[in-house]
Amino acid sequence: MSTLRETFLEELADIYDAEKQLLKALPKMAEAARNPELKSGFEMHLNQTEGHVNRLEQVFQVFGEKAKGKKCKAMKGLIAEGEDLIDDGEGDAALICAAQKVEHYEIATYGSLKSWAQQLDQQDAARLLEQTLSEEKATDDKLTQVAENVVNLEEEQAEHVHSE
Ligand code: FE
Ligand code: FE
Repeated sequence: MSTLRETFLEELADIYDAEKQLLKALPKMAEAARNPELKSGFEMHLNQTEGHVNRLEQVFQVFGEKAKGKKCKAMKGLIAEGEDLIDDGEGDAALICAAQKVEHYEIATYGSLKSWAQQLDQQDAARLLEQTLSEEKATDDKLTQVAENVVNLEEEQAEHVHSE
């Protein structure tokens, strides 16, 4: 059985790769978004994601390890689904759903990493992970808000078509 430290470092390498995959995917999502609030939200999260990569490198350092990624299959799948729905022209509501799946995946990982860092008595690492965790949660909340506007807008447009 792995030690908690080994499990921690495995997950750290997984999310490090996941964040890097996301750095490449977010510009495509921003480009595909039609709602300006959603577009700027993706652009802002791209900036934040650069910070997430940076914080993970600091966490590796705290643990005396070199920053190294391990292919994250889950993020690869989540991004592939997102690309499919962009290709199919499914629109903003579907794009938001795909983005929230990504955020929830990240939230699950950062939540575990943070509590493991505490158990391993690495408070500096726990603090860094908590900062990113709270940004992921804020992004998820923001997406929920934008989703309400997007859906309302689409319904208004549909009503408008009906009344013509
Ligand atoms: Fe992130
Ligand atoms: Fe994120």
